[in-house]
Amino acid sequence: MSEPTERTAVKRLAERGTYDAETAYAIIDEALICHVGFTTDEGHPMVIPTIHARIDDTLYLHGSVASRMLRTVKRGGQLCVTVTLLDGLVLARSHFHSSMNYRSLVILGEGREVPDGDEKTDAFKAVVEHIARGRWEDGRLPTPKESRATTIVAVPIDEFSAKIRTGGPGDDEEDYALPIWAGVIPLTTVAGDPIGDERLGSDIPIPAYAERYGRP
Ligand SMILES: Cc1cc2nc3c(=O)[nH]c(=O)nc-3n(C[C@H](O)[C@H](O)[C@H](O)COP(=O)(O)OP(=O)(O)OC[C@H]3O[C@@H](n4cnc5c(N)ncnc54)[C@H](O)[C@@H]3O)c2cc1C
Repeated sequence: MSEPTERTAVKRLAERGTYDAETAYAIIDEALICHVGFTTDEGHPMVIPTIHARIDDTLYLHGSVASRMLRTVKRGGQLCVTVTLLDGLVLARSHFHSSMNYRSLVILGEGREVPDGDEKTDAFKAVVEHIARGRWEDGRLPTPKESRATTIVAVPIDEFSAKIRTGGPGDDEEDYALPIWAGVIPLTTVAGDPIGDERLGSDIPIPAYAERYGRP
């Protein structure tokens, strides 16, 4: 269990906050994307959706060498990475108490650019495997030129807070007598049937991770 810092201590509904690394890792691993917040060179806030992956206690972001997030990292600017899993809609009798069930994570810190080498290759692999486990071995590996055209940013999963809401609605006592339906509509990510590329050879089987896609 990590300790919250002044910046990450959950204040509103603090009992929903947790600073447990394993909880944070599970949210990161299940979520397909995150949102990265930073201040641009021009000084305005920017939040960009992007793919991520994790190796141990490091979060990796990948993108083009032209990305503004990378420029922020290069000048030592702070990043805020948010990861959100939506688990359900909580419909209370009152609109005021209606809510959502979720698992979310906020990580604060400085990123660093990962130089060419083993860590960069491992991070590239982690990103590919994060999206579809088993894909790295199946796909064509990046050429040195492709690798140079890809930026990998590492963010330590060190200063963070997770916040989790579970369960049904909590209405005001007098509202339980109201003739209004209340409860939870669970939400999950469901993959559809894979659609083979039109130029796919007919003798190439659908890999298991595509046929039965699911998140960890
Ligand atoms: C699900 C998802 C996954 C992605 N994964 C990656 C990834 O792994 N790596 C990566 O580099 N990029 C990824 N992208 C694209 C990413 O969101 C950015 O578009 C990209 O990184 C370029 O950012 P930039 O600030 O350098 O772009 P710029 O072109 O400099 O941004 C200029 C302006 O374009 C607009 N803009 C930029 N991106 C978006 C956007 N996504 N949606 C709407 N408006 C936008 C904003 O107004 C922004 O101010 C992903 C996007 C999505 C939605």
